[in-house]
Amino acid sequence: MLTVATLAAVAFVTWAIAGGGQGGGATPVAQVEAWAGALTHTAPEPEPEPDAEPTTAEAGFDLTALSTTDPASPWVVVNKQHPLTPSDWAPDDLVAVDGVQVRAAVATDLEAMLEAAAADGVEILPRDGYRSYAGQAAARAAVEQRRGFEHAERYSARPGFSEHQTGLALDVDSASNPSCDLQTCFAQTAEGRWVAEHGHEFGFLVRYTPENTETTGYAPEGWHLRWVGRDLAGWMHAEGRTSLEDVFGVPGGSTYLEQ
Ligand SMILES: [Zn+2]
Repeated sequence: MLTVATLAAVAFVTWAIAGGGQGGGATPVAQVEAWAGALTHTAPEPEPEPDAEPTTAEAGFDLTALSTTDPASPWVVVNKQHPLTPSDWAPDDLVAVDGVQVRAAVATDLEAMLEAAAADGVEILPRDGYRSYAGQAAARAAVEQRRGFEHAERYSARPGFSEHQTGLALDVDSASNPSCDLQTCFAQTAEGRWVAEHGHEFGFLVRYTPENTETTGYAPEGWHLRWVGRDLAGWMHAEGRTSLEDVFGVPGGSTYLEQ
C-alpha cells in the first residue's frame, strides 16, 4: 500500500540520495533511512503475510549441503527404494523425551515443540521413536499378523527400511481423542492439526500426507513425524513441498528395492 506519506518519503529519499541540499556531498544511507522512517512512522506498511516473508529459498537454500544417503545425516532419505545402509545401522546419541527415544538434536526441538503446543492448549503425546532393526522386524511382524500383508505394506516398513531406525522419526498420540491414535482420523484431531501447521517451526515434517502417497509409498500417517532440522522443514513449508523424495529428486514409491 502506497500512502501519500510514503510517496513523500520516497521523493525525499531520492532527493537526499542524489545529494539534495548538500552540494553534491554524500549522505550516509543510514541517515537517509532514518529520515524516511521518521517521515513514514505515522503510516506504517501493513504487516506482511507470513507466506510473504523472505524464505531461505530466496536466500539461496542449498539442497546439497548435507548427505541424503548417510543414515547419520538429518536429511537422509529412507523409503522403500532406499533402505538404511548398513541395514543394522544404529544412532549413538539417543536420548529419551517422555520415555521415547530420539537422537539428541531431535530431542531439543521435540521438547520445544511439545512446550509450544501445550502453550496453545494442545497435548501431543510422544508414543514411539527409535526402533532398532530387530525392533522394526518385530513391529512389522505384529502388524502383518494383525492386519495382513497388504495392510502392513502400506503402513509398516519392512526392517531396514524404516525411518524410525534413524532416530529422526517418531509417532505421536492425541490426548484429546485417543480413539484416533495411529488412525487416519488423527490428522483431524487438535494434535494432528497442530503438528501439520506448526511442526516445521521445530524442524518436523508430517512425512506421509494425502498429497504425497504415491511419492512416499505410504498411506497418509498424520502421526508420523520426521525431523529434518528447522532450515529444511521451514523451506519446504514455505515452498509447499511435502516430500523429501520430491525435494531431493530421489525415487520412492510403493515398490520395495529388490535385494
Ligand atoms: Zn512412524
